[in-house]
Amino acid sequence: MKITNKHGVPETLVALASRNYYSKGKSDYSVTEIISPPQIQVLRRRHWEEMEQDVSEMLWSLLGSALHVVAERGQAEGHITEQRLAVAVDDVLLSGAIDLQHDDGEEITITDYKFTSAWALRQDKFEWEAQQNIYAWLVWKAKGRPVKSVRICALVRDWSRREAQIKPDYPQAPIQVIELPLWPLERTEAYIRERIDLHREAKVRGDWGEDLPPCTEDDRWIRETSYAVKKEGRKTAVRVFDNEDAAKVLADEVKGFVEIRKGEAVRCTGNFCGVNQWCKQYQSTLEAKDESAGS
Ligand code: SF4
Repeated sequence: MKITNKHGVPETLVALASRNYYSKGKSDYSVTEIISPPQIQVLRRRHWEEMEQDVSEMLWSLLGSALHVVAERGQAEGHITEQRLAVAVDDVLLSGAIDLQHDDGEEITITDYKFTSAWALRQDKFEWEAQQNIYAWLVWKAKGRPVKSVRICALVRDWSRREAQIKPDYPQAPIQVIELPLWPLERTEAYIRERIDLHREAKVRGDWGEDLPPCTEDDRWIRETSYAVKKEGRKTAVRVFDNEDAAKVLADEVKGFVEIRKGEAVRCTGNFCGVNQWCKQYQSTLEAKDESAGS
């Protein structure tokens, strides 16, 4: 991966960004790898040398690194920060670095810091849930200690006080602690094995030049089409619906109009996976769009 500096950002940040890549130690797989879609992992490995990212676009991952340093400085009694644990699953070594473990002497609470957007925070976060439960499983296997709860400390990077005042489902503060369901250990272990198998199979398919397993709708972070009721002279929507008929009724009532906000696969279109230019699945959706626009 090549780090570019198109906007003359200070070299300190460039050096930090270059060092910033997630390490999985000596393990075969990291927790973040196995929970992410196999297609992304195979494409990232295949095109790693060609991948490029500008340091100016890495703000949030830089701040993520900074947060870990700050968190270590603010360590309280019973807190264990940034501990990497590794456990063998048959012939595969799986490892994960846990942001914060709070040990009360009997049980452990696991907390992971996430910089996220207000929109993302309101979506179903199965990946977060799976990741934290795998950490709980690692703690139990590697340390023999029970975990009492798993949670996320979300830092909402685009938080708006005004939105919080008018929308009850909007995060009410820029920092949110979210408790996640704690899975039985048997369920977690079955999930781990299933994910490792998927990644192994994708790797073999990739090595043989076969089509990779496609990303699912959840993997692609599908944002559904929505219908905003708007009025002339007003910047913000009166209300946003996921149903066009309901939007039309309100638009008639307030003498406004409906603006269609087309849904999209956010991870693909925003290239949050970093590999959309080499992804056959995404490129074929673009070709299909071109064809339907041309017909
Ligand atoms: S572009 Fe979309 S479909 Fe392709 S690897 Fe990335 S997330 Fe998956």
